[in-house]
Amino acid sequence: MSSAHITFDTTGDKIARRVRKMRSSAVRDLFAAATRDDVISLSGGMPAVSLLPVEDVRAATLAAVESPEARAVSLQYGPTNGAPGLRAVLADMMRDLGIRVKPDQILVTTGAQEALSLIAEAFIDPGDIIITEGPTYLGALQAFSAFEPDVRAIPFDDEGMRMDLLEEELKRIGKGNPRLKYCYVIPNFQNPGGVTMVAERRRRLLELAREYDFMVVEDDPYGRLRYDGGHQVPLKAMDENVIYLGTISKMLGPGLRTGWIAAPESVLARINLVKQGADLCGSSFDQIIVEHYFKDIPWQKTLQKFVAVYKERRDTMLAALEEFFPPEATWTHPEGGMFLWITLPDYMDTDSMLAEALEAGVTYVPGNSFFPDGKTGRNSMRVNFSFETPESITEAIRRLAKVIEDRLEL
Ligand code: PMP
Repeated sequence: MSSAHITFDTTGDKIARRVRKMRSSAVRDLFAAATRDDVISLSGGMPAVSLLPVEDVRAATLAAVESPEARAVSLQYGPTNGAPGLRAVLADMMRDLGIRVKPDQILVTTGAQEALSLIAEAFIDPGDIIITEGPTYLGALQAFSAFEPDVRAIPFDDEGMRMDLLEEELKRIGKGNPRLKYCYVIPNFQNPGGVTMVAERRRRLLELAREYDFMVVEDDPYGRLRYDGGHQVPLKAMDENVIYLGTISKMLGPGLRTGWIAAPESVLARINLVKQGADLCGSSFDQIIVEHYFKDIPWQKTLQKFVAVYKERRDTMLAALEEFFPPEATWTHPEGGMFLWITLPDYMDTDSMLAEALEAGVTYVPGNSFFPDGKTGRNSMRVNFSFETPESITEAIRRLAKVIEDRLEL
């Protein structure tokens, strides 16, 4: 007799091989735990959206629905590459970073996260080689791994990705290797490292890209969140063929899920095809709100507020680390962004220590989550300073120091 239901595959037999290999993001899993009232979260990368002026958000939203003309656009399907008005605004905004692109060299995405996925889908065949910083943004590793690349992670120091180690790796890969596709970097206030790539290394990276024939993907969500030091010229401003990823998540709010790819039109044409299959087009409603926000509202004032608040929080975290952390620990000193990277003695394991930290009422992201092998970096961790108040940050670092000290071999 047949059962009452069709087969529902609980054993995984019917799940695609590449999906069976996927791991859930440690940060996503931590989100649930971090909502407990007594836990201070240093794990997410959440902007302090409570700083956004209500009136500005209301005005931008109203503009998207107020008139029949606006509604005809914002509630309707839109072009796959994004609302033309928004693309013009984004092209304009990039000028003050030194980047000159035409609106047609921009494709709007559902956050920079979708951009990472679209790029991977467009370029990676199983076994293709891509290069990243190690550690790198774990959401990028997740997006890329769906297409089964061979990821080579290159360490960084205080001046960004180590170009000597990149060159060694490239020599192993070999010149003109058709499997080598792209190098993905976060040059400003790297996630998770907090470090910034210096100008000399940016130039060298582009030289190596020409010599070894690979594309460069520059992911820049944090570039405008600079607290000290001078502006660094983006890779995209140094070479127009760089694929640049932007997002409004850290300038406005990630809830609006709006990012973009700035790339040569020939590259965007391919990515456009992939996006058509993914969602036809992004949210017109979000895009029109974002267009109005950056066109009609003095957004720089709000950005300055974010910068002032985050700078204070970064300084508070650095001061608390100096005060409470044991001398065996070292950490990066970011000039901007939202994260810093802590390194503990080699024998420490931040992955298994997380349970103790949760018990003590603090979360962080274990370092191994940011490496393609899921193993390297076990003695390190990422901490965020944008979300919690200065008082909570100090308390969280005090709790974390205690957890670490209990595990140190004295
Ligand atoms: N790239 C990096 C380096 C990030 O840190 C993030 C978000 N934390 C993203 C991309 C994704 O951002 P979005 O909200 O635009 O999808």
